[in-house]
Amino acid sequence: MNRSLEQSSHALDHAVAHARAYLAGLAERRVSASPEALQALSAFDQDLPGQPQPPEATLDLLHRFGSPATTASAGGRFFGLVVGGTLPAALGARVLASTWDQIVFNDATSPIGVKLEQTAARWLLDLFGLPADCSVGYVTGTTMANVTCLAAARHHLLKRAGWDVQRDGLFAAPRLRVVASRQIHITMIKALALLGFGNAHIEWMECDAQGRVLPETMPEVDAQTLVIVQAGNVNSGAFDPIAAICARANGAWVHIDGAFGLWAAVSPQKRALLRGLEAASSWVTDGHKWLNTPYDCGIAICRHPASLHEVMATQAPYLRSGEHPAPKDMVPEFSRAARGVEIWAALHSLGRSGLADLVERCCALASEFSTSLQDAGFEVLNDVVLNQVVATWPGAESRMAEFAASVQADGITWFGPTTWQGRPALRFSVASWATTREDIDTAMTSIRETLRRFGLA
Ligand SMILES: *Cc1c(COP(=O)(O)O)cnc(C)c1O
Repeated sequence: MNRSLEQSSHALDHAVAHARAYLAGLAERRVSASPEALQALSAFDQDLPGQPQPPEATLDLLHRFGSPATTASAGGRFFGLVVGGTLPAALGARVLASTWDQIVFNDATSPIGVKLEQTAARWLLDLFGLPADCSVGYVTGTTMANVTCLAAARHHLLKRAGWDVQRDGLFAAPRLRVVASRQIHITMIKALALLGFGNAHIEWMECDAQGRVLPETMPEVDAQTLVIVQAGNVNSGAFDPIAAICARANGAWVHIDGAFGLWAAVSPQKRALLRGLEAASSWVTDGHKWLNTPYDCGIAICRHPASLHEVMATQAPYLRSGEHPAPKDMVPEFSRAARGVEIWAALHSLGRSGLADLVERCCALASEFSTSLQDAGFEVLNDVVLNQVVATWPGAESRMAEFAASVQADGITWFGPTTWQGRPALRFSVASWATTREDIDTAMTSIRETLRRFGLA
């Protein structure tokens, strides 16, 4: 081995030793960073070194002051943001893929990167029950997956109306309509704005008390309409009635935001929540949510690969049927990480039954969490159909944000505040392979203690 590669090898050993120490302390440590750890972050306020430093010294500094200032979202007691800790095989795959240092531009720059993206694509379409000829693109998260699919939709619908938005731009284009659930995620509004749809003209469909679209509030739509619904409300976990929406599509492009909820499709118990899924035009989900891959990992699935290709290709778009285009020609990014490696590793290590078990276990733990919260005196505001629990304390609703902050500061567990149907509440997401029954019990101990401190129990 030459000297510089030897240095990389030593740095890797060093980093893995620190990473091991981090994992060893994860179950016992606080979930939020301690005030002392935050204070000690001033270690990074130093000036840029004038001279090179040994890699080990750089890594030591990272571990000494960086590791304590993390939030322990890799552990089992983090219930924020609908995300889960990284699966063992996915973690190992990231380390290996980082060492490979692949740029997954096309199969000349990374044969393995492209191969694993294609294999994972085939597996994902099968798991979700979607047509095998859909394109699957890997991006940074659901926000960018939405941008990717909606860019394809914009082009596809305008082309149908006789307008080439790639050539002639948006400013004089025929108007497209956007019909969306009142409950779509805030990042969807951002995606629409980025693509020039604005948000003042969205035609809203109203929702029921669980946050599900009421199909009778869907206006008459046509082939120049984009319809946006979701599989998994970010608060309640509820699913829009996809079959009923698609039945009224009348040529419209139906886009499904399934950032975490799409994974319910892999569970025989939960699959019915997604009835009609395969009739939509595009779907998005996150690997870094319920599949428990590392960040950043979003997945954009599109029924019309040629339209997506025409938007994203950096060379003259040309797609023969059955052809696999280069990844860079199917997503916004040009240089890109080997995300397919981690997705492939997560799927391969879980297998079909392991994935269903991950989803079902989280759902079962969420139900137990809900029951325990009610036993403690909370009112649970949603039907716990998936992995999400929204709870409030009647009479102390205005203190829920403060309550969440107080629990976070105790360091035993972590969840955030939300507002559900106008009521301030707490939101719990169970989305990690690492969460156990004991973690829920430990979290409840901290919650009960905080209730006493607040004079509520
Ligand atoms: C998390 C989430 C998003 C945004 O996903 P990112 O990966 O954070 O970009 C969009 N929609 C829903 C329903 C979500 O839960």
